Amino acid sequence: MRVVDHTHDPQARSWIDSANSSAAEFPPQNLPLGVFQAGGLPRIGVAIGDRVICLGTLAAAGLFSDPLGVAIHDHVDLTGLMSLAVEARTQLRRQLFELVTNPQSRLATDIALQQAALHRLADVQMLKPVEVGDYTDFYASLYHATNVGSMFRPDNPLLPNWKHLPIGYHGRASSLVVSGTEIRRPHGQLPSAQEGAAPTFGPCRQLDYELEVGAYIALGNRLGEPISLGAAEDYLFGITLVNDWSARDMQRWEYQPLGPFLAKSFATSVSPWVVTMEALAPFRAPAFERAADDPAPLPYLQSPGNAESGGIQLQLEVSLLTDAMRQQGLGPQRLSLGSFGSMYWTLAQMLTHHTSNGCNMQPGDLIASGTVSGPTRQSRGCLLELTWDGECGKPVPGTQRTPLKFPTGEERLFLAAGDEVVIRGWCEHPQRRTIHLGECRGRVI
Ligand code: MN
Repeated sequence: MRVVDHTHDPQARSWIDSANSSAAEFPPQNLPLGVFQAGGLPRIGVAIGDRVICLGTLAAAGLFSDPLGVAIHDHVDLTGLMSLAVEARTQLRRQLFELVTNPQSRLATDIALQQAALHRLADVQMLKPVEVGDYTDFYASLYHATNVGSMFRPDNPLLPNWKHLPIGYHGRASSLVVSGTEIRRPHGQLPSAQEGAAPTFGPCRQLDYELEVGAYIALGNRLGEPISLGAAEDYLFGITLVNDWSARDMQRWEYQPLGPFLAKSFATSVSPWVVTMEALAPFRAPAFERAADDPAPLPYLQSPGNAESGGIQLQLEVSLLTDAMRQQGLGPQRLSLGSFGSMYWTLAQMLTHHTSNGCNMQPGDLIASGTVSGPTRQSRGCLLELTWDGECGKPVPGTQRTPLKFPTGEERLFLAAGDEVVIRGWCEHPQRRTIHLGECRGRVI
């Protein structure tokens, strides 16, 4: 686990004024990393207030010693930084914190350097933080798995393996897109409403989003050498918001016997900023408390450290902005508010299980949590659950789906053309400065 240190001091302020406002998503305690473009080549940056600082410009000015200097200078994305050991990543955070909080720092006092390195966030384009090699999606929420299972198998919502291992499937890295990218409604095979009739091919009619949290992998492991649960935290670089767009009609028809395929692989959105595990240190929380009659995880998925602080205190919100809301000047309407603390499996358990057969991970690989749903209706992380009539695993017999209703008079069971889904996330704690993950948005075309 990363330590809480002076970089988490809630009183710390920056000489960049916008970082000190109470509404600031990127105060000096956050320091998320990303990749941006301001006309020229992609550059690695850190967000502070309403600015982004180009790390490449700082590296060229000799502000970082190796291995940080090389990891920044020789890469156009975060792969270099994701290849570094925890000590170097902690060093980067401390150095960036010093640069933005000390009014005597080189960046604060060298006006030419400042002009070259500082950009307004509003003026830059954010890109994917890393070219992901492999992407895996899990299914780690007990509430989500129970709700969805009870729609398809009312008598047997959770399969016997679910509480013994984090269920996952290999996703598609090539269709990961950064927040803001438009999402084209997929075509595919759609099951017939009539039992036994042939499917049709056409545009998906039940397009959905899935609220998820992703983790980028650091270091990686050699093929054949599993990562133990005790070591797994060192292999997590940071977290990000993920929208796993899902075509529910296609999914229902294709998912057996091998799991999700084209219903998921047409697009997955990621937020541009990566909040590092170092920044999350004050927000670590106990892992999900299993019910007394739940099975204990097998020894390789159990450790005191994971039980004590394998969780993350992270609030997650989904909003919807339709074309009509846009035309009427309304803001996005909240669909759900939930917590990452409701997840049954921790990110470290997912990574440990993933590599337990010797499968190798590489720096920049992405694992996603699966839909984050909580026990209450308002904490359901997708429309499939939000418009379903049931209470955590107990369907209401004889009922249909109930549409969500909006102030524009519009109703939704699933997403319509022009709908924009906006996911936001933040970590708050009474004794700490709130830090945000930014947003992950995508509009359906
Ligand atoms: Mn998913």
